[in-house]
Amino acid sequence: MKHKLGIIGYGTMGSWHAENVRDRIEDLDVALVYDINEEKTKKASADGFNTCNSAEELFASDVDLVLVATPNNFHKDYCIKAMRSGKNVISEKPACLTLEELDEVIAVSKECGKLFTVHQNRRWDVDYAIVKNILNQNLVGKPYQIYSRLFSNRNIPGDWRTLKESGGGFLYDWGVHMIDQVLCLVDRKPISVYAQLKKIYQPEVDDSVRININFEGGLSAHIIADSWTFINEARWHISGDDGTAIVNEWFKTEGKIIKANVKQVDWTQGCVYTSNGLSRSMWPRPQKEISELPLPVQNPEPRWEEFYENVLETIEGKAQAIVTHDQIRMSLKVILAGFESAEKDCVVKL
Ligand code: NAD
Repeated sequence: MKHKLGIIGYGTMGSWHAENVRDRIEDLDVALVYDINEEKTKKASADGFNTCNSAEELFASDVDLVLVATPNNFHKDYCIKAMRSGKNVISEKPACLTLEELDEVIAVSKECGKLFTVHQNRRWDVDYAIVKNILNQNLVGKPYQIYSRLFSNRNIPGDWRTLKESGGGFLYDWGVHMIDQVLCLVDRKPISVYAQLKKIYQPEVDDSVRININFEGGLSAHIIADSWTFINEARWHISGDDGTAIVNEWFKTEGKIIKANVKQVDWTQGCVYTSNGLSRSMWPRPQKEISELPLPVQNPEPRWEEFYENVLETIEGKAQAIVTHDQIRMSLKVILAGFESAEKDCVVKL
């Protein structure tokens, strides 16, 4: 059965969805587009999509699925209105700016029996898939530190993302992807958050994010999203009690795993002598005590199409949504704990 998609907001992401749904999602037609800006509506028409002049017109149409791809502060109202009009809904991330807003949206979803989910598309990134495989295949033993890092040197696109009232800033923008990824990777309860948010280039919103999530059982995840950094560190760095793994770059598959063959350390051997003193800890392990493993690259590559395929199957009652309400809620809880932690300079319990 062909489903019909209505898109609200035909900016960079709304138009990306339109083209990619048209080209890659067989059972979904882009039926109608609405944007508050006439120029964007004209662009949608020029791109070959039907357009309308108001959100109400879109809600009154026969689309059965609505994508909300406006600036973040408009997500909540559009999601609620769409579901109350009998439509299923995908919100772009972040779904909402506060837990109160999100709980309202989730309550309407339950009341109306309509799907509400969020486009957490970074769950299909190749680098993330490798890390998932590393942990699932136990390739570094029991993990105790996960570093997830992304660096840009272009700062924040100079639009609504620079404004607090629109839900701007790097934590809501990229942090939400990275938090969602980490929460999906770790099968343990997150218990506390410590964050440092800086305004390096932006006067109003964070553009440098450090957010640490502590999980039960002694595992910590350190998320770094910087928008003004000119030398990068590895995208992922995972330490476990059997070894260490790195994935070098976002959306790439290079990196390595170093595993300890011998866990016992022979302290009678090995020492580094420097002109300032000596160290036995800094002496590198002999080659025979470690092995290098290739990264478990997912083959075939993860398919972003799965997101929409799952949405359609969920609407048809054949599947459960991959991006669940509980996951959406916990990501937002961590983000909000991050804002509180940064403001008070303290650890915030979840
Ligand atoms: P954008 O500024 O390029 O586009 C937003 C569009 O919404 C514009 O065309 C604007 O005219 C329209 N708009 C503004 N207010 C509106 C309103 N009240 N009603 C209807 N239309 C309105 O922004 P963007 O980069 O496309 O971001 C849109 C959403 O997509 C944001 O929530 C953002 O976080 C998300 N996004 C997600 C990803 C991802 O990979 N998942 C990537 C980029 C953006």
